Amino acid sequence: MPAPKRFRNVSRTGPVQVGTSYDGRGREKHTAACTAPRCGFSADYDSRAAAELAARTHRCPVR
Ligand SMILES: [Zn+2]
Repeated sequence: MPAPKRFRNVSRTGPVQVGTSYDGRGREKHTAACTAPRCGFSADYDSRAAAELAARTHRCPVR
């Protein structure tokens, strides 16, 4: 599940949400997280494009 951070520019692609946040060093981080129950996919990327690509290509291991 997404950590309780402050995300901005949150968008949704299928079940996957992409949001931008700052890490502890003030750098932007882009997180893609699947909202499907029991999936639990989430990953951080250096660029928004990479996160959105991951969101578009993600396939849930469970349906
Ligand atoms: Zn998923």
